[in-house]
Amino acid sequence: MHAEIIAIGSELLTPERTDTNSLWLTRKLNDIGIEVKLKTIVGDDVPRLEETIRDAVKRSDVVITTGGLGPTEDDLTRQVSAKALNRKLEYHIELEDHLRERFRGWGREMPEINKRQAYAIAGCEVLPNPNGSAVGMYLNDGNTHIAIFPGPPREMQPMFENFVFEKLKAASGGVSIFRRLLKVSGYGESALDEAIAPIYTKFKDVQTSILFNKSEIDVELALRAENKEEANRTLDELRSEIVAKLGVAVFSVQGETMEQVVGRLLREAGKTVSVAESCTGGLIGSRLTDVPGSSSYFIEGVVAYSNEAKVRTLNVPQPTLDEFGAVSAETAAAMAEGIRERAETDFAVSITGIAGPDGGSADKPVGLVYLGFADEAGTKTLKLNLPGDRSLIRWRASQAALDYLRRQLLKAT
Ligand code: ATP
Ligand code: MG
Repeated sequence: MHAEIIAIGSELLTPERTDTNSLWLTRKLNDIGIEVKLKTIVGDDVPRLEETIRDAVKRSDVVITTGGLGPTEDDLTRQVSAKALNRKLEYHIELEDHLRERFRGWGREMPEINKRQAYAIAGCEVLPNPNGSAVGMYLNDGNTHIAIFPGPPREMQPMFENFVFEKLKAASGGVSIFRRLLKVSGYGESALDEAIAPIYTKFKDVQTSILFNKSEIDVELALRAENKEEANRTLDELRSEIVAKLGVAVFSVQGETMEQVVGRLLREAGKTVSVAESCTGGLIGSRLTDVPGSSSYFIEGVVAYSNEAKVRTLNVPQPTLDEFGAVSAETAAAMAEGIRERAETDFAVSITGIAGPDGGSADKPVGLVYLGFADEAGTKTLKLNLPGDRSLIRWRASQAALDYLRRQLLKAT
């Protein structure tokens, strides 16, 4: 079966708004083996919308529209889809009663224009909207399944899941796509593929995708199957083999971010951390504190950008800066030791580097980053040469620091 999605609303044709409903719907449809062949964005324009819906119903097994079900003049989906399907709109007194009730619940009278929302296409199944006033509609026209939803994602999503998903799943033959996600750090894309290709090629039915983003790699496993237990068994087996091969490079099999993993490990170990940042400008601290509950392990972060700040706040010895420079293993080590002493934490990490685009030299090029790590056993440093523009270098440096901390935590436990 194949589907098409129509996102309705002139605002979606402006640079400010993006159609995300179709992304969400595509994932859901793919999960039940339905391929999306076409997506259209139509403005609030009667002839274009009518033509789009007519064509869609002719050529696709599943047609889903979102948006334009509100009570205002520019919300055209109800009338136009009825016209395109050569059906009438029917008035539903129970919908009007329900709308009046909703408004009364807010202590208001229902504006008369909302009466429009009491109309539904003849012969459709009316889909209740738990989070809004516009009901959805579902109908079969010939062999085509048609679902019409309001635009706001928090209204559309539960309506799809509660009333349409099972119908489409049954119609598509009961197949589902089962997935696993492994998040990997510290590997390049081709090195990773080289390492795991001998494993995943054995699993012919599983589609394995390797997706590189910013500083980590997602390995996605997808298996189309009818039998859930069998599918889960196959995917778990493949996943275990990959994890066994890659070891600690796999930082999550549950879709967590690096900072969530680090946070979980710190909490489990009952340890605390502080950070001293130069070129990352607070990014590491920001990422660590993105995680709810981080106050139990994150104690302090210092952004010591200038040399003076490194001396004043982190106690980096002036001679270290004079002799080795701000971007050096020695300075990174002194920064980590300085913040650890000041914040009295179990662990401290530091970053100093050249994010560019200016400031590089022959022996200290843009992308040169030193990472420092201090704990009770002593201080270690790592030299990195990170590719990318300024923001990528900063991101990758923060990722390297978090990943270093993660690996130390795994060693310690
Ligand atoms: P309402 O009763 O809220 O007016 P509606 O069905 O008329 O519902 P729209 O007016 O088209 O929906 O859209 C309302 C809001 O929903 C939009 O401003 C936008 O924030 C969001 N929205 C609409 N369509 C989409 C889409 N395709 N992707 C993501 N968000 C969307
Ligand atoms: Mg609207």
